[in-house]
Amino acid sequence: MYGTVETIPYLCKRCYSCVRECPAIAIRVEHGQAVVMAERCIACGHCVTVCSQNAKRTKSEVNYVLNEIIPRGNVVAVVAPSFPASFTDDYAKVPSALRKLGFDKVCEAAFGADLISPKYLAEIEKDGKKTIISSACPAVYNYIEMYFSELVPKLAKIVSPMIAMGRYIKETFGHDTSVVFIGPCIAKKSECKDEKVEGAIDAVLTFAELKEMFALTNINIADLSDSNFDAPVGLTGKSFPLAGGLIKTAEISDDILEKEIIVVEGRSKVEEILHELLNNKINARLIDILFCEGCIKGPAIDSNLNYYSRREKVINYINDNIKSADKQVWKSNIYNARNIDLSREFEDRDKRIPTPDEEQIKEILAQTNKFTKQDELNCRACGYVTCRDYAIAIAKGLAENDMCLPYLIEKLERAYKELQDTQEQLQSAEKLASIGQLAAGVAHEINNPLGTILLYTSLLKKELDKKLESKQTIEDLDLIAEETNRCKNIVSNLLNFARQGNLKVSEVDIYDLINTILKPIRIRPEFKGISFLMECEADDTTIKGDSDQLKQVFLNVISNACEALEEKEIKKVNIKISKDENDIIVEIKDTGNGIPKENMGKLFTPFFTTKKMGKGTGLGLAIVYGIIKMHKGDIRAASEPGLGTVFTIRLPLNLQ
Ligand code: ADP
Ligand code: MG
Repeated sequence: MYGTVETIPYLCKRCYSCVRECPAIAIRVEHGQAVVMAERCIACGHCVTVCSQNAKRTKSEVNYVLNEIIPRGNVVAVVAPSFPASFTDDYAKVPSALRKLGFDKVCEAAFGADLISPKYLAEIEKDGKKTIISSACPAVYNYIEMYFSELVPKLAKIVSPMIAMGRYIKETFGHDTSVVFIGPCIAKKSECKDEKVEGAIDAVLTFAELKEMFALTNINIADLSDSNFDAPVGLTGKSFPLAGGLIKTAEISDDILEKEIIVVEGRSKVEEILHELLNNKINARLIDILFCEGCIKGPAIDSNLNYYSRREKVINYINDNIKSADKQVWKSNIYNARNIDLSREFEDRDKRIPTPDEEQIKEILAQTNKFTKQDELNCRACGYVTCRDYAIAIAKGLAENDMCLPYLIEKLERAYKELQDTQEQLQSAEKLASIGQLAAGVAHEINNPLGTILLYTSLLKKELDKKLESKQTIEDLDLIAEETNRCKNIVSNLLNFARQGNLKVSEVDIYDLINTILKPIRIRPEFKGISFLMECEADDTTIKGDSDQLKQVFLNVISNACEALEEKEIKKVNIKISKDENDIIVEIKDTGNGIPKENMGKLFTPFFTTKKMGKGTGLGLAIVYGIIKMHKGDIRAASEPGLGTVFTIRLPLNLQ
């Protein structure tokens, strides 16, 4: 399949304007780049016009014409009648410029239009009430062949003015003549390569390409003099590029056929009429369809003038030339061409992909967070009119998930939040690591003197036990031993904190582990009256981890929950274990006094405690945090002051 439009890699900036404009859904987004699929493209050229980044361009034939066709000699240029809309000030000099470029003859495509228009008249006047669709616009017949193939039999089996002119020139001037068509249309490039009209035209240039050739060969069109086209000149065919051009050219009487002719121009109207025709709602005799609003709005017209000024230019040109044309000569030229075959065939090239089933569409919509009708914003940022159309395009392999802007923004916000969280966690992990090193050093140094104090305290106690009057001193020594033991407890916690680095990994059943911890907790006198509820939603709760360290985690968190219940009437601790694809999730929820908002950020900081002197060390959660991070897990707290707290711990099933 000949690809008329090329995509220039990396220029595409994901605006999806081309996707929005493409009537054939022939643009696939791959890795963020919108690429034209040659096999689905109808060559209308709309994507080229709307791409502000110039990421789409028509295949150029400038080099081919300059370096191969012109040097061959015996070359005829066929210029489309819309040329005054492109060469606005110098249109009368275009024939001179083309001759200077090396063309031997410069003819008007308008004569081709004059040749085919009687054929249309004959078709209309032929038997029955059959609806005929004009086939002069290649984007239209491509569209019908590929996406409305049921309508192919309605296409008039008549060649376009370009092909008519090509066949005429080859028949009249000799088959070794090369014919180059120059016009405002990108689709003509695809028509030129169409096997069914092969051999009539050797190359197609756009007006923009012609201007490029003038620049390359230093031809300044303004310096040249006006000149006429070579014979055969066109007559009413000159009005072909205007709205209803075919009707005017064929001189079909509006009076007789008033309601039986429909002129349709522009993409959205074209789609509309084809759907109507498909549904058998139209009975007109002739439907003249052009993909652009007249060829003067063609994608390669290359002019700064607006539609009306362009129209004016073409009309002026027609008025200037029609009057001076020799009608007798024109008539005899038409007569002499009577035996030229101006027919062609069309074929069914159906490219429609079946619509996916409802389940599949729903599944795809859900992938971009659209679960209900309200979630479907239909914002068109992806290039499709509705979220549903977009989902269908994904199912057909024509679009990607990442084209949905609201979904992308949500994804980005989530990623940003996660990044922020990770950064905070990283900072506190770093802080904890340095505190851990310091703690290990200090703990080690303090542990030995504490041992010595305890030893001598017990020796002294033994000595004094023998003497009755030393009761008070013994009590003092007990206090020294008690306080020293408290210090030892802190030191051992500090060492635990510092030791988190080494994990002894084995298979650990979290459900069993928590049950083991709960046993001694349940019987502790200070936790009397607490009801414990254990729920498990996972069938297998085994993970890879360090059993001793994980015991510490749950012991600390459950102890904290129990301690928070001290002054509460309702004393409940609920533990829920669940599981998702990657993690075991343990929720420890209490009905305790909760955590004030201002303390939420300090929970995992070493030595942060709100408990009475001698009750808390403030190291429990710091240790918990360190151990969980070593297990590549996560811990989060949520609390409602006065009502209770829930700690959610996530531990990966497979520690790598
Ligand atoms: P400690 O228990 O020694 O005070 P932790 O590091 O274990 O130290 O806890 C730090 C602080 O976090 C506690 O003093 C308490 O204020 C708060 N905290 C932890 N868990 C809870 C909970 N379940 N309910 C209320 N406060 C809690
Ligand atoms: Mg604690």
